[in-house]
Amino acid sequence: MSQQSEPSPTALDAALRGVTAVSRRGFLAFGGLLAVGCATQPTRTSKLPDPIWRDPGKAATPAVCPPVIKRNTDFKFVMDRELWCRGECVPAMMNPMLPPKYITVHHDGMSPFLSTDQSSSSARVEMIRCGHRSKGWGDIGYHYVVDRGGRVWEGREIKWQGAHVKNENEGNIGICCMGNFDEQSPSDAQLQACQRMVECLMGKYRIPVSRVKTHQEWASAHTACPGRSLQREMVVMRQKTLAYLPIPGNDDFIAV
Ligand SMILES: [Zn+2]
Repeated sequence: MSQQSEPSPTALDAALRGVTAVSRRGFLAFGGLLAVGCATQPTRTSKLPDPIWRDPGKAATPAVCPPVIKRNTDFKFVMDRELWCRGECVPAMMNPMLPPKYITVHHDGMSPFLSTDQSSSSARVEMIRCGHRSKGWGDIGYHYVVDRGGRVWEGREIKWQGAHVKNENEGNIGICCMGNFDEQSPSDAQLQACQRMVECLMGKYRIPVSRVKTHQEWASAHTACPGRSLQREMVVMRQKTLAYLPIPGNDDFIAV
């Protein structure tokens, strides 16, 4: 259900690269600290996680996702979930993804996290997954997780609807930036990677900037996610960069 025809690769890709290069300079000026987490139920992603990481999914059902050798061929920079995932997802507890219409950015809302290395980051993704599985969800709720070193990790496969915004998960791609941005600031590498991921998804699925949101911008959410510092960055990213991507609907945003 999530497949859509690819946009023409040439003109759009070139435009995306150009906008990205210009916009990255803009992220150095922001920083901040502050407080609150990512929260929603049953599809909320905050109050994470409990200290004991058990994976109830292993015993819950025999139906598991079959191993897939190659995914994310559209986004070669995305780290395959097999590189971090220690458990199995439960298809019976997930819905097929509808055609993507929205992108929502989150933080993980856990304790502040400063590591940039791959092993610490992959362990953090697994921690998030275990927290979500302990809530009874079929898998990690986000489709992508961005670490502080600038890596993007595949979360829930895009063929499945995510679990990250209460009552608003249909056609909604979830991106989580690792850390707590009420208490720390995102790294430059993390912001750049987040922006790259958002741009690629906007291009692939023709999602205009007006449909690129943060968790707190959903009326149903009642959360401070993605934290004050990342919220500020996302506002700037939309205004200064994402709005200028050559995607139908973006002109309306700029005009406003
Ligand atoms: Zn959130």
